Amino acid sequence: MKVLVFVEQRDGKIKTSSREAIAAAHQIAGSSANVAALVVGTPGDGLKDAGVDTIFTVNKPEFKLFNVMNYTAAAQKAVEEFKAEAVIGMASPMGRELFPRLAARLNGGLITDVTSLQASSGSFKGGTKPMYAGKVLAQVEFKGSGIKLATVRPNSIQTTVTGGAGNVVELAVATADSKLKTLEVKKGSSDKPDLTEAARIISGGRSLGSADNFKIINECADVLNATVGASRAAVDAGYASHTMQVGQTGKTVSPQLYVACGISGAIQHMAGMRTSKVIVAINSDPEAPIFSVADYGIVADLFEAVPILSKKLKEIL
Ligand SMILES: Cc1cc2nc3c(=O)[nH]c(=O)nc-3n(C[C@H](O)[C@H](O)[C@H](O)COP(=O)(O)OP(=O)(O)OC[C@H]3O[C@@H](n4cnc5c(N)ncnc54)[C@H](O)[C@@H]3O)c2cc1C
Repeated sequence: MKVLVFVEQRDGKIKTSSREAIAAAHQIAGSSANVAALVVGTPGDGLKDAGVDTIFTVNKPEFKLFNVMNYTAAAQKAVEEFKAEAVIGMASPMGRELFPRLAARLNGGLITDVTSLQASSGSFKGGTKPMYAGKVLAQVEFKGSGIKLATVRPNSIQTTVTGGAGNVVELAVATADSKLKTLEVKKGSSDKPDLTEAARIISGGRSLGSADNFKIINECADVLNATVGASRAAVDAGYASHTMQVGQTGKTVSPQLYVACGISGAIQHMAGMRTSKVIVAINSDPEAPIFSVADYGIVADLFEAVPILSKKLKEIL
């Protein structure tokens, strides 16, 4: 089965989550020969040995900044060239915008935000995805014979693949007749991985009380090499930026470790972090709902517990 992977790069480097998408494609395709990647822009070095035989690129100035109309046109062209029977991408902001449009254009079926695939070499039946704010895991199957599309939640596929011929094929794609024009992309200043890709996250809630108090979370994050997240209440109060918000109206994360500090565990917050592998909650209220999903719970004042945690971690890490 021929599978196209929509690959995202940042600063010329393939995103870790796109490597996971390639690994997911291998579950369906069985070999690098049946996996092609589409990257808009110049493919970074990491892509040459990432398990794909063919790398489609589009290198036009109009495609430099993300424009969903142009990117849909590019993906459609790559599907046609490769005669792809399935397309895999990431459940990232870009994937969320691109894939529904692409599925409609190709008249295919789309399963978004899967955490595992129901697939074997040559067959792609469907996938498992969290629903109702992560309260259930639904098994969703494709119907009919159309092209199959899926976006994969970052950090869900634990394997990565290497090898592949990595032959670059430049696609000639007409610029879309778009009413949208991306003028500028402003990058965040943090040198830490984005929340959606981070292996470790430590988040703070409303109980931090001020932006300044987030420094105890930042200090612990530095020791843990973690990215800092926040609840919506902390964001609304101006203690943290919206890019740090985890949850239903923020980012969906699935790290190896999620530490929630002074976060109550509202359903909208849990919708964004429930599939984290290990959850640690620090809360002064033993009845806080966050403890219902936590693997480890610390009932304590975070202003006492977090500095102690940072100190102890510094000693052992
Ligand atoms: C449509 C909609 C979408 C939403 N989307 C999101 C979303 O994406 N993300 C999100 O997070 N929320 C979202 N919310 C808001 C959500 O319902 C909660 O209001 C929010 O998550 C609460 O944030 P919090 O846990 O920081 O604050 P609170 O609910 O106020 O909880 C604070 C917690 O801190 C504990 N605490 C207080 N002092 C200390 C201390 N010194 N030490 C330790 N613990 C302490 C308290 O016991 C309490 O459990 C959404 C709501 C709606 C209606």
